[in-house]
Amino acid sequence: MFYYRLLTSLILISLLWMVYPAAHAQDGDQLSLAMQPEFQADIAAFPDIPQITIVASLNITDQQASIAGNMQVLYTNLSPDPLSEIVFRLYPNYPSYGGQAAVSNILVNGTTVTPEIDPTASIVSIPLPTPLLPSEQTMVTMDFTSTVFAEQTVLYAQYSYLGGNLALPNFFPLLSVYKTGTGWWRNVAHPQGDAVYSATANFDVTLTAPAKWILIASGTRIENTENADQTRTHHYVAPLMRDFALMASTQYETVSGEQDGIAIDVHYFSGGDEAANTALRFAEDAVRIFNAHFGEYPFAELDVVETRTVAGGIEYPGLVVVQSESWNTQDLYLEIVTVHEVAHQWWYSLVGNDQTRDPWLDESLAQYSTTLYFGEVYGPDFQQGFFDSYSDSWQNFSAENGDKVIGLAPSDYEGGAYFSFVYAKGPLFFKFLADTYGQAALIQGLSAYFAGYRYQIATPTDLQTVLEASLGQELDKWFLEWVGQSN
Ligand SMILES: [Zn+2]
Repeated sequence: MFYYRLLTSLILISLLWMVYPAAHAQDGDQLSLAMQPEFQADIAAFPDIPQITIVASLNITDQQASIAGNMQVLYTNLSPDPLSEIVFRLYPNYPSYGGQAAVSNILVNGTTVTPEIDPTASIVSIPLPTPLLPSEQTMVTMDFTSTVFAEQTVLYAQYSYLGGNLALPNFFPLLSVYKTGTGWWRNVAHPQGDAVYSATANFDVTLTAPAKWILIASGTRIENTENADQTRTHHYVAPLMRDFALMASTQYETVSGEQDGIAIDVHYFSGGDEAANTALRFAEDAVRIFNAHFGEYPFAELDVVETRTVAGGIEYPGLVVVQSESWNTQDLYLEIVTVHEVAHQWWYSLVGNDQTRDPWLDESLAQYSTTLYFGEVYGPDFQQGFFDSYSDSWQNFSAENGDKVIGLAPSDYEGGAYFSFVYAKGPLFFKFLADTYGQAALIQGLSAYFAGYRYQIATPTDLQTVLEASLGQELDKWFLEWVGQSN
């Protein structure tokens, strides 16, 4: 996410399937359509990740929009522990989303089970009739409904129906993350910061919507069928992604480009053609620079989508959104937000992390990556301008409120501290490492981190370990001082 201030002006700123009519097996050949040819083999390299198949319909009125359908999840226990339950999350029920979501008709290998739902209605624990042993598979199916109410701006309006534009991230029950030792992730995110923590899965999603609505989603649309009842059925595949995001409007127009074989589409509202072409160039340059520095973006497509979010921008796998208010060619903010969100494809989407516990891992890296972009496109002075701005923000805040490390959870930062430390001091930690060991050596370390944790989940410990190996240096002192923890 991005809400952020720039330079001096400080702008704010996741058997029995044949029994169920909705279900069908995932087709590896279809999934591969969403990958660049040289990365199609990655699908076979991760055969045991969750296989998530969704078939749903959108019902849209002036007052609200709902998605109702069925989801089946083929889940393999990749942990060394027997599992007695599987946990899903209903993000629309967060007060910060302001929507409503519910599940029903839950079956585990065809047996009806009753879920346990927590008081926030965001944690759905599905009991398994028999423990799922390590490397065993089970099939969970459920019906779900998610609703969003028109013209309600809740927090960042990330889940919203504003001015005829639907932003529906996390509209389905998203599988939580299981870790040995800590069990299933059940944190309810602090409203400040991003909410989602999920593992990489293969998605096959079929959505039917009124024909006049233009749908933009993660992954690649492989079928598009017009129905007799003035609806249209869209079939998407999104392999090796940790979430599946959906945006929709009757008004979207699109400009298309390409970078390193990746189709980049910018979807915008009428009248924003000039800014769309500019945003396309920013996204193409960002992809080119981050591909070269960190390792290649493996998917066939990347979507940049104008929405009515009130955050500057928000990152989703294969799709980033940029707020409508900055859809202006004269606005440097459009460039900063677009580049920051594209950087999140490397840090959050491809290399995953617990954004509710270690937001610095993706946010500080997205910020640092943004400075690399500006350094390369506009020169070193411009990059230094960003560092100076970050430094001012950090120092000014610290002078009044005291210093903090960058490795805290969002709930540990109050009154502007989240931005000042995670978004401003955070990238300066990477600058410090670049100044100490050389920028080229740091970038090489980050590319090793990307190669090691692509499609997986990384922790601060993992980052430190990879950087130490790559740089050939002990980094305990620096991690302790800046992040507040070390290996
Ligand atoms: Zn961000």
